[in-house]
Amino acid sequence: MNRNIRVRFAPSPTGALHIGGGHTALFNWLWARHNGGKFILRIEDTDLARSTKEYEQTIMSGMTWLGLDWDEGPDKGGDYGPYRQSERLDIYREYAEKLLSEGKAYRDGEAIIFRVEHGQDISFDDTVYGRIDVMSDGLKEKDSDKLKDIVIIKSDGMPTYNYAVVIDDHLMNITDVIRGEDHISNTPKQILIYRALGWDVPKFAHLPMILGRDKKKLSKRHGATSIYEYRDMGYMPDSVFNFLALLGWSAGDDKEIFTRNEAAELFELSRVTRRPAVFDFDKLNYINQEHLKRLDPMTRLNMIKPFWLEAGLPVDEVEKSRGENWLAEALTLMEGRGRTAKEMADFSDYFVSFEPVKKRWDASDVDKEKLREFFTMIFAQPVFKAPELEIAARDWVSAREGAKMKEYAMPLRFALTGMKVSPGIFEVAEHLGREECEKRLKFYGLL
Ligand code: GLU
Repeated sequence: MNRNIRVRFAPSPTGALHIGGGHTALFNWLWARHNGGKFILRIEDTDLARSTKEYEQTIMSGMTWLGLDWDEGPDKGGDYGPYRQSERLDIYREYAEKLLSEGKAYRDGEAIIFRVEHGQDISFDDTVYGRIDVMSDGLKEKDSDKLKDIVIIKSDGMPTYNYAVVIDDHLMNITDVIRGEDHISNTPKQILIYRALGWDVPKFAHLPMILGRDKKKLSKRHGATSIYEYRDMGYMPDSVFNFLALLGWSAGDDKEIFTRNEAAELFELSRVTRRPAVFDFDKLNYINQEHLKRLDPMTRLNMIKPFWLEAGLPVDEVEKSRGENWLAEALTLMEGRGRTAKEMADFSDYFVSFEPVKKRWDASDVDKEKLREFFTMIFAQPVFKAPELEIAARDWVSAREGAKMKEYAMPLRFALTGMKVSPGIFEVAEHLGREECEKRLKFYGLL
C-alpha cells in the first residue's frame, strides 16, 4: 500500500470510450485502489476542432458503467484543477515563457519551440517494458541529420500533447504514468521537457497492445470497439471489467473470475506483461456467463428485463399477475444458459409470453393422436410438480413397447418453449403452471 500513489487517465474527448481507453483507465484505477491512492481524470481537449462536451460525457459515463470511479476530475474538482486542458492555457503559457527566457525554447512566428540538444541520454526504465535506451541524437528530422525540436505551443496558442502532458502530470503530482504502449515513443521527448524545467520524472508503465484474434491491432474491423456496444449487447459491466483486467495481467493461481475489489486487492503493476493481449470473444462470453450465474436473482432479473421489453414482451403484465419473484425464479431455472443478458432473455422469452413460441413452432410435424393420450395422462396427475410429472411420464413410457421418452418430451418442450433446448422440461412445466401449460397444449390440439 502506498497512499501517495497518484495516477491519471487522460482521454481526449474526440470519441466514445473505446476498448483501449477503458483498458488504460481500468489499470490506472486498479493501481490507485490497490494502493489506497488517488485516481484522477484529466480531459485533454486541446484539439478544439475534434473535442466535444458530449464525448467528454460519454467517456465519463462509460467509466462509471465499468465501475471506475475517480477522485478528482472536471466534474468533481480537487486540489489540482482545473482538470480540463482547455482551462489551463495560462499555465502552459507561463512555463513556455520560462523556457523562452532561459533560452531553452525559441519563437517561430506565433509558435514556441523547445530546443533539443545533442548528446542527451533520455533512456528510462519502464515498469512493464523494462529499460528503453534512447539518445536525443535519435530524435531527427525526417530524412535529415538535423535534430527535431519539439513544438510546445502551436501558432494558434494551444499547447501540444507532449508539452501539456508534462506540465499537468507534474503539477498534478502524478507518481505513475500508466498508458498505452503507443506512447513509449513520446516518453523520451517528455523526459527532455521535465529536465529542462528541473522537475523529477514520474514512473512510467506502458500497457501492452490489444490485438484482434488475427493478431492485428484491435480496430473497428474486429467488431464492437466502444465500451457501450458491449453494454448494448447484454454484457455485464462486472464481466467487461473482469475481461479487460485480464488483458495483460493475471490474478495468479488461474483465478479468472473476480470482482472489482478482488482485482484491486491482487493487482500488481509489476505483473503486467508486455506481450500483446488478444481480445478473445469466447473468453468474454465465458466470463460473462460466469458472472451471470453468480448474480442474485433480483439483480439478474433487472438485467434481463430491458431485453425482454425490447423484444416487445409483456413483462409488466406478467409481473403484475405472477409477481416479480416468479420471473426471477424463471431465470434461476435458466442458470448457465445464455452467455449474455440478451441471449438469456432470448432463451427464456417463453416464460413471459406464449407468442414467441407460436412463431417458432406450428406442430404440423407431429402425430397428435399419439401425443394426446400422453398429455391427457400428464394432466390427470393430481400434483403438477416436476418430480411427480417426470415419474408419471417415465412409468407411462416404460409400459409401452418401443416407446421412448424423447418422442413425448420433445413435443412437450416445443409446445411450451418453441425451442430445442431448455431447462428440464418438467421443471419448465411446473413453473409455467398447469393452467398455462394446458392453454399452450390445447392451442396445438395436443390436449
Ligand atoms: N490524451 C492522450 C491520449 O488519449 C493521453 C496520453 C497519456 O496518457 O499521456 O492518448
